[in-house]
Formats: sequence, structure tokens, C-alpha cells
Amino acid sequence: MSERSQCARCPGIFCYPNIPADQNPSFDEAPPSCPTRLKGDIIEKSLSRYNDEDIREFARLASVQEFECYEHTPDGIRTRIPRIEETIQFAWKNGFKRLGIAFCSGLANEARLVADILERKGFEVVSVCCKVGAVPKERIGIKPEEKISGPDLYESMCNPITQAEILNEEEVDFAILIGLCVGHDSLFIKYCQVPMTVLAVKDRVTGHNPLAAVYLSRSPYYRRLRRRAQA
Ligand code: SF4
Repeated sequence: MSERSQCARCPGIFCYPNIPADQNPSFDEAPPSCPTRLKGDIIEKSLSRYNDEDIREFARLASVQEFECYEHTPDGIRTRIPRIEETIQFAWKNGFKRLGIAFCSGLANEARLVADILERKGFEVVSVCCKVGAVPKERIGIKPEEKISGPDLYESMCNPITQAEILNEEEVDFAILIGLCVGHDSLFIKYCQVPMTVLAVKDRVTGHNPLAAVYLSRSPYYRRLRRRAQA
């Protein structure tokens, strides 16, 4: 096993340098953990996936969409559109007609707003809440004292596998995730068989902006994030 990849600690921009288009990036000074240097076989193997025409076209349209999210102005390059518009434009580019929304019950209002917006942009929208099936949490071994509303109350489990299977069965062209919990989203992603994207991730204390706590991790407010965990 070679050294583990550590791009997050890379000191440079060796794999995305500002050089003329007819030159090749140099990795002479890239760190020893650089996966571009170490993992040529994986890079080649994964690149071959783009030989599939559908995959290459999907990747091409994603990069065209990325390009269109910026504009050049006399003051320099600027961002243009929020993610909801990026999502809509990407769906149009791909010719998607039927979109699926998998949402958390805690973001039902947001899901309704998104469904309205997407329908007004001409899409057919299928939506599925995380509580679909109304299956009690006991079904997956949750104990009474582990229920959020208290041990004596009924509580439906989050059911991301069913959310995914319904969107699969409905043959949506593209699935959009809104606010599923950590782990529930993992299961949705595992079982969803159509292309999917994430419009919003849940963060219960930051208005669904998890990076807010990360940005504050060097301030007194979230300094605890940087304390070493006890073994
Ligand atoms: S691939 Fe290499 S050069 Fe690029 S960020 Fe990772 S370590 Fe740095």
C-alpha cells in the first residue's frame, strides 16, 4: 500500500496550475503523498470510464455548467448564479424532464418551495419524504429512550432506502437530495440508481450551512472542533 493521498494538505496548485494551454503541469515539487504522482494506474483506469459516450457527455455538460456559473467582467471573474439555478440549468442541458426530490421531513417547507420552482421551470416533479412508509423506529432496533419525541410516543424511522427505490421506480431522470441526515443520505446514495445531486445538506444549528461551524473552528465559538479527541 503506497502513502495515503493527502490533497487537503498540499502546499501548491500543481494539478491546476496557471500555465498556457500548450504546457503540461509539473509535479517535481508536489508532495510525496500526491496521488497524481502515486496513483497513475487508478487515474488511467478511472479515466477510461469517460470513454462511455453517456458518461463523457454527462461530464462534459457538468463542466459546461460549471463554466456558465462564472462571468468575466472588467473587474475580473465573478460568480453568477446560486445552486438552485445551477441545478435547473444542468437539468435543462441534459434534457431531463422528470425530477425527483428526496427530502427530510424537517425541510418539508423547503421541499415544497423547491417543487414549486422546478414545476414553474417546466419539470415534472416527484417528491418523497424521509418518513415514507410510516415505519416505527423499533423496526431497525431503536430503543424507546433513543426516540427524539420521547419513549412513549410513536416515531417513524427515516427510510432513505424506500425514498431511493420510489424514485427509481418512478423513473425520474435526476434525483435531488434536500436535507437528509448524515448516514441516511449515505443509504439514499447507495440505493439511488439514477443520477443525483445534493441541493442542500442538513445542519440543524447553522441554517443548513455546515461550513459555518468549520469557518468558526478557529474562533472561541467552535474551538472545540479542533480539540483532539480522547482515545
Ligand atoms: S493531486 Fe497532488 S498536486 Fe494535486 S492537490 Fe493532490 S497532492 Fe497536490
